[in-house]
Amino acid sequence: QEAKLRQVQKMDAVGQLTGGIAHDFNNMLAVVLGGLELARRSVAHDPSTATRHIDNATDGANRAAALTRRLLAFSREDSLKPEPIPAAQLVSGMSELIDRTLGDAITVVTHDTSSGWRVRADRVQLENAVLNLAVNARDAMNGRGRLVIATGAATLDEHQVDHCSAGDYVTIAVTDTGTGMTPEVVERVYEPFFTTKEAGKGTGLGLSQIFALVRQLHGAIAIDTAPGRGTTVTLYLPRDDLAAQADPAVATAPAPAPP
Ligand code: ADP
Repeated sequence: QEAKLRQVQKMDAVGQLTGGIAHDFNNMLAVVLGGLELARRSVAHDPSTATRHIDNATDGANRAAALTRRLLAFSREDSLKPEPIPAAQLVSGMSELIDRTLGDAITVVTHDTSSGWRVRADRVQLENAVLNLAVNARDAMNGRGRLVIATGAATLDEHQVDHCSAGDYVTIAVTDTGTGMTPEVVERVYEPFFTTKEAGKGTGLGLSQIFALVRQLHGAIAIDTAPGRGTTVTLYLPRDDLAAQADPAVATAPAPAPP
């Protein structure tokens, strides 16, 4: 019954997506085709202009590929491989990618207090979520500022965080020194295709996808933001303690000797 409801909700989300997706995808295709056409015209007499048009076309194609990848993540649940991931390792494993994506004018600070807690998720999907949050932070800072990615451990009481039952959670918090959001924007951020970014820059799929992922993992998202002050987006993901019990290497390891 629950699985059926989930399926219905998923189809609903996919339906909402397809409406706008053709439009976004067509815009990107127009960039590719336009660039190739201009390159074809100039390639014989002006190779450097042709190269510039080809670069634009490549950029458009890459954006289109990124868009379809994000869409596929909605519908390809069976290709996901959930595995226990130490929260600390998640961010350390992708810090280079984040540095490269954010550019030199943004200082990236990572901070871990997760005490070795692990979360059970598909690694690629979870890394994409963190990268998405980092890119949103970059865009909100107009390319310059300070980004803090903090992984931690939290034991929550009932009702302490919206949509989280009592228990142990791994937290992943991304804080930026950017524009912040008005209450009107906060209210709509999880809607598929809601974006305040100019055409071609934002798809409006980032936070709606992260929302879907977090719900699927029985976690929650909290956003703390104010215009002019910056934003913290925190993911709460249930701690994977079952994995520790099931893993014989961990379960039978002798307690460490006292110092
Ligand atoms: P996209 O990034 O493609 O616009 P998202 O769903 O990730 O799609 O974000 C939706 C909107 O939420 C953004 O267009 C922006 O207005 C707002 N937003 C998201 N993250 C931040 C942030 N860190 N700071 C300010 N605004 C943000």
